[in-house]
Amino acid sequence: MIVMKKKYSKALLLLLVALAISACTSKLTKSTEPAEIIEITSDYLKNIVTVLSADDLKGRKSGTEGIEKAAIFIENELNSYTKKNDINIYREPFVVKELETYNIISFIPGSDAILKNEVIIIGAHYDHIGENKTDSTDTIANGANDNAAGVSAALAIAKYFSKTRNNKRSIMVALFSAEEFGLVGSKHFARNLSAQNIQVYCMINFEMIGIPMQTKEYQAYLTGFGSSNMAEVINQHADMELLGFLPQAQEYNLFKRSDNYPVFNALQVPAQTISTFDFTNYEYYHHVEDEAEKLDYQHMADLVNNLIPAIEKISQSKIQEIKLTVEN
Ligand SMILES: [Zn+2]
Repeated sequence: MIVMKKKYSKALLLLLVALAISACTSKLTKSTEPAEIIEITSDYLKNIVTVLSADDLKGRKSGTEGIEKAAIFIENELNSYTKKNDINIYREPFVVKELETYNIISFIPGSDAILKNEVIIIGAHYDHIGENKTDSTDTIANGANDNAAGVSAALAIAKYFSKTRNNKRSIMVALFSAEEFGLVGSKHFARNLSAQNIQVYCMINFEMIGIPMQTKEYQAYLTGFGSSNMAEVINQHADMELLGFLPQAQEYNLFKRSDNYPVFNALQVPAQTISTFDFTNYEYYHHVEDEAEKLDYQHMADLVNNLIPAIEKISQSKIQEIKLTVEN
């Protein structure tokens, strides 16, 4: 009996020592590699939209001093997200109506030796229409919903992946100029991508996400809904009805009316736009009253925080889950 008891307590002691050691090691691992939790707050998004749609930027028309202020703010934001010098933040210049302007790009390399050759593009245009002289009291079209809101979502995604580096595929965040001149910036961008033989996996673009949709069936719609299975894949990863089909988006052919289209056209890859402008929820499109205080930042934060884990999984999947729909 005594022998057995002794044996038993010795085993118990060993177990306790083992437990103590494992507790220490896990504590050590935790303290040396802190996992930073990046949550996108409504205040963060509101700050970006407020700065970009302020009156002193005079509506961010391509080629003006106002859009230059916007560009410097965007670059400072992108730079503040990272100390790693392998994230490349640069301007992609081009000329529109004899004025020089540029897209702003942040390239976040993927962590997987093979998958990093495949690029996921996150897009949004940062220009707007400038001043609208037809209104006598206020002449500045601030472009808060169109498209400071989309820029804030793209910057949030840049922040998340610049800080976590959880993406196995590379992520290229592209903020376009001269969208309002007829998708000029994204056409230039798409030409450069094909000239450089960059292997684009897919593109997720953001337009006018500042106001919730009237329908409660899903949080946002995807343009070109039937052109690929992108909505299905994102909803599966997000484990909710995040993206849906809006009949008016098809009726007005919104698929061809934003910066996703030149990328689709040049590269024939899934390239679509996420939006919550449903033609009934916002009457200030290209209007001097498209201002920062009109937007719903909690709605925007919910949408972005639901999308980020899905984009993370898409960037990590061993296979290319998103595919163009084969035309019959
Ligand atoms: Zn727009």
